[in-house]
Amino acid sequence: MSSFDVVVIGSGPGGYVSAIRCAQLGFNTAIIEKYPTLGGTCLNVGCIPSKALLDSSHHYHDATSHFKEHGIDIAGEIKVNFEQMIARKQGVVDQNVSGIKYLMDKNKITVLEGVGSFEDATHVKVTKNDGSSETIEAKNVIIATGSKPSSLPFIKIDKEKIITSTEALKLKEVPKHLVIIGGGVIGLELGQVYLRLGAQVSVVEYMDRIIPTMDASLSKELTKVLKKQGMKFYTSHKVKSVERNGADVKVEAENKKGETITLDGDYALVSVGRRPFTDGLNADKAGVKLTDRGQVEVNEHLQTNVSTIYAIGDVVRGAMLAHKAEEEGVFVAETIAGQKPHIDYNLVPGVVYTWPEVAAVGKTEEQLKEAGVQYKSGSFPFKALGRSRASMDTDGFVKILADAKTDEVLGVHMIGARTADLIAEAVTAMEFKASAEDISRMSHAHPTYAEAVKEAALAATDNRPLHM
Ligand code: FAD
Repeated sequence: MSSFDVVVIGSGPGGYVSAIRCAQLGFNTAIIEKYPTLGGTCLNVGCIPSKALLDSSHHYHDATSHFKEHGIDIAGEIKVNFEQMIARKQGVVDQNVSGIKYLMDKNKITVLEGVGSFEDATHVKVTKNDGSSETIEAKNVIIATGSKPSSLPFIKIDKEKIITSTEALKLKEVPKHLVIIGGGVIGLELGQVYLRLGAQVSVVEYMDRIIPTMDASLSKELTKVLKKQGMKFYTSHKVKSVERNGADVKVEAENKKGETITLDGDYALVSVGRRPFTDGLNADKAGVKLTDRGQVEVNEHLQTNVSTIYAIGDVVRGAMLAHKAEEEGVFVAETIAGQKPHIDYNLVPGVVYTWPEVAAVGKTEEQLKEAGVQYKSGSFPFKALGRSRASMDTDGFVKILADAKTDEVLGVHMIGARTADLIAEAVTAMEFKASAEDISRMSHAHPTYAEAVKEAALAATDNRPLHM
């Protein structure tokens, strides 16, 4: 029987990063993945393919809506070759997943294809697709089995017309009317892809605003911009039924007053969140406890109730984000090595890759108010920046929240061009406990979108932005 220092179950960003760090630390490491390709949700049916389609559709949108103004005339009709768009997306996925295989080989990590299931706390059976199996021994196990799309109890996902994000990434046609159930990150990103490609897109959201966990000012601005682009929103609406109607779908929802709306579309995308995935893992055979919500229960060291078994990523509590899973993967590897790693969950940024992009880190205004923290706020709109006007990307703003007394930055919320990248400055500043004045006194290259961060910091410090 093969024996390993560490066995990682699941090869998503949590699992594969953890395996690499374990190997770097000198552990004899194996990784088990049930699918033939490595990389998990993120690389195969999540972050990467969605960004590939967002990018392609963005190019199309620019070509049809902005090229003229830039002085670029294209003779003839600009058309979408959707089959090619999907094929390019798959090419990007293939490139990325083969990159993970390369990294496993480079780090001498044993890759085992099959479903990993516990026989007991130190033995994991790997069952291949053809039914054959082998059992391996593990001193330590890291559960990184991720998540799957969740649904509502009365919705039957048929994967044809009533679909999840997985199917939405490989449709054969552009929907005529895509009805999206859930106005969170995944629904909005995929909604914008199809909106740009010509679909009518309607979003039904139970809460009174889209991206409801982010700062309310971001929801408001994103709603405004997406409405301008043609997306329709039904917030404060509870979906009552989602039915097939021949080749079409019918979605019924009820508002707070009890009035019902009916949306007739040809596709319904159910994006109401994701659930932790532990099917087939046989966690009980190892004595590992799950929570009521189906997550693997862990302590602050990401250790389960069995001391040699850890769990990371979407399958444990906290934000379901690839970079959170990666940080946890490194954290656990270093913990097993006897080091004392640290993660500040307050400083894990959240990003929506629509255009304009939305990005945030730290506390929202709503959270600060609820906690009774005295804070000051400084904002700066992108439309006042030379860089934004040069590119005609003038939507959005940067908002910095700082402690009223100490000036320490408590939260940074931004919506606009390239904010997914700009948020890294805010994370760095907050990691080093910067004050708003610290940021405002740093030189920011001109002309860049990053100047909006400096200006917002000036506004938060002393209400003294220079260009407004
Ligand atoms: P996963 O990536 O889910 O990987 C788990 C792996 O474990 C899977 O490959 C699975 O097959 C395998 N597995 C499960 N059980 C077993 C078993 N018993 N034996 C063997 N293998 C098993 N996050 C971001 O940060 N940025 C984004 O832009 C972003 N975009 C997204 C877009 C979409 C459409 C979706 C769906 C998600 C997106 N996410 C994004 C979320 C991100 O994909 C997840 O947070 C991330 O993949 C979680 O990583 P993980 O390692 O915990 O699990």
